[in-house]
Amino acid sequence: QNKLLQQLKGRESVTKDGQKIELCANIGSVLDVGNVLKNDAEGIGLFRSEFLYLESNDYPSEDVQFAAYKDVLSKMVNKRVIVRTLDIGADKQVDYFNMPKEENPAMGIRAIRICLQRPDIFKTQLRALYRASVFGKLAIMFPMIASEWEIVKILEIIDEVKAELDSEGIAYSKNVELGCMIETPAAAVISDILSKHLDFFSIGTNDLTQYTLAADRQNPDIGKFCDTHHVAILRLINMIVQNAHKNGTWVGICGELGADLELTEAFLAIGVDELSVTPSAILPIRKKVIETNVSEIKESVLDKYLN
Ligand code: PEP
Ligand code: MG
Repeated sequence: QNKLLQQLKGRESVTKDGQKIELCANIGSVLDVGNVLKNDAEGIGLFRSEFLYLESNDYPSEDVQFAAYKDVLSKMVNKRVIVRTLDIGADKQVDYFNMPKEENPAMGIRAIRICLQRPDIFKTQLRALYRASVFGKLAIMFPMIASEWEIVKILEIIDEVKAELDSEGIAYSKNVELGCMIETPAAAVISDILSKHLDFFSIGTNDLTQYTLAADRQNPDIGKFCDTHHVAILRLINMIVQNAHKNGTWVGICGELGADLELTEAFLAIGVDELSVTPSAILPIRKKVIETNVSEIKESVLDKYLN
């Protein structure tokens, strides 16, 4: 079995009838890159940048962040690396942020909400990212988006950061793709609007499921009330892909659901462009993709999950 999977290294992830899907890896630190390359990922679809903040006793400096991003981009040699900006709050608390205690932290000031309230922290990260962008193929995405104004504000802040770098004579890539996580039901519902501003979406099914089913992802006793194959989730994924493709925006899935082999056919039938998963899941999914003929399964799969 294992040997068979090893033979899939270097192969394209393409179905029998020629539909391509990009298979990328999720990482949580620079140390994970070895495993990414070993499993022949086509890129990094989610680089959780929280480790920089969680490992430190104070806000990580621009230079410390720059070094980490540069390291990953260089090691991935021109394969796309999607860095997700700071996503703390809720289950990931960091003392020195001195966040006020909240009754419902999962619905409170977390992720992009912190960055928009405290643009100094956000700008430091963006400066580090743009400075690193000349060392590889960087994409940046933003977590916990729920409204269009958040994207408009983010794009304004990015323009400010670029103008600062220009005035300091610091080089950055002009081809950094920008995207957002779709992990709130609101973002899914307005994905037609959001896609006009962005190159890509990455569906965060962990949070999207939690918020759609009103089922706490950290509650181990929630059992069948948190049905990850719930038709509501698959309908949302289908809607997001259709909305995005109308505007030329591509769509990946970076939540746990992306690695679920029972759904690989459904994701192909829906037309998902990329899956980003834990590195060890890449070759088994590639095997499934190579064995699939989308035109044969499309109707029955869409019937099963969407009708
Ligand atoms: C998600 O919500 O699906 C996701 C990928 O982000 P995280 O698990 O880090 O919240
Ligand atoms: Mg999330």
